[in-house]
Amino acid sequence: MDKNQILDQLKQINYPGFNRDIVSFGMVKDVVIDQSIITIILAISSSNEEKKNQLVQEISDKIKIESFEVKIKVLDQAPRKTVDTSNKDANVQGNIKNIIAVASGKGGVGKSTIALNLAAALSKAGHKTGLLDLDIYGPSLPITMGIVENPEVNDQQKIIPVIKDNLKLMSFGFISGNQAPVVWRGPLVAKMTEQFFRDVVWGELDYLILDLPPGTGDVQLTLSQKIPLDGAIIVTTPNDIALTDVRKGADMFSKVKTPLLGVVENMSYMQISGKIQSPNTDLSNVELCINDKKIFLEKDKSFNYKFHLFEEGGGLNESKRLNVPLLGQIPYSEDLMLSIDKGEPLILSNDKHPISEIFNKIVKRLEEYHEKKLN
Ligand code: ADP
Repeated sequence: MDKNQILDQLKQINYPGFNRDIVSFGMVKDVVIDQSIITIILAISSSNEEKKNQLVQEISDKIKIESFEVKIKVLDQAPRKTVDTSNKDANVQGNIKNIIAVASGKGGVGKSTIALNLAAALSKAGHKTGLLDLDIYGPSLPITMGIVENPEVNDQQKIIPVIKDNLKLMSFGFISGNQAPVVWRGPLVAKMTEQFFRDVVWGELDYLILDLPPGTGDVQLTLSQKIPLDGAIIVTTPNDIALTDVRKGADMFSKVKTPLLGVVENMSYMQISGKIQSPNTDLSNVELCINDKKIFLEKDKSFNYKFHLFEEGGGLNESKRLNVPLLGQIPYSEDLMLSIDKGEPLILSNDKHPISEIFNKIVKRLEEYHEKKLN
């Protein structure tokens, strides 16, 4: 029996709530084999006792080696920063009242679009707001906000966020102009993530919105251990596949004790509006059918039809399961898509747009949440 064989087995065990194994996370400090005793030494910088116990149990269930006794020793680690806001200053440059993560189980559900418009809506409502794009493998902020310049560095070698439309913005894409090499994993990603908080001069902010990479990877782990998040919002599409992934993400936040503020369902439906036009004056018997479904016509023969791209109710069911509100249902919208291409959030170009109103409602919810937290 040698150490590497045991390490190989430990590599099959993921840290609870994450898709990553405990060896590559650096949680296995050592494996000591002494005659018939194998001691696995763990260093876990989490204050979540339940999770630690769960992991120890899993290791003792899975690592069974004939004629050896397996012992697990968990080293005492300095307590990590928690959601306690008094700890914020330690890891974060500036004074930020609310750090809110926008997360999704998988890519392409519109998480960055929602994060951007939410940040813009908060700013429009008069809050000092920042947006940090942490999707280091596919940063979108340079495109969605149409930013080509690099951020400046001050005398203390700290990075000054780019300011556009009253928003303080930072993205890995501003620095590299590209996405991080896929080989970047673990410690390098953790370091980069921490730097976005420690080495960026955020100053005074009411809200910092984090656009997380999809899933449950290195960035999420670093955040949960180092950065005191005030809450998380989950973005999903209504279909089942996205929901299965979203569940993992939501469960991860609850395990790391970050309050889930709610679910935003994106691409919930498509609003199809129109009017029947005909040279005939009598249209009283006219009917309109779409996909064999009779559509309600107004007196003037106009219609407003919500075409559901996926089965209805996914976001609502998920929010019920998580016992959090469904913060909003955003339709599939060409206007929203084009605003992203133009590099200007819809909420800033047209605050009367029905989608802008949905974002304004979400802002109200966040404000209420903040009020409650203070009282
Ligand atoms: P994610 O961050 O989840 O990967 P994005 O926000 O980058 O997703 O969105 C993926 C694509 O879908 C983008 O081209 C975006 O413009 C488009 N998109 C997102 N939400 C909507 C929507 N509600 N209606 C139309 N297009 C959308």
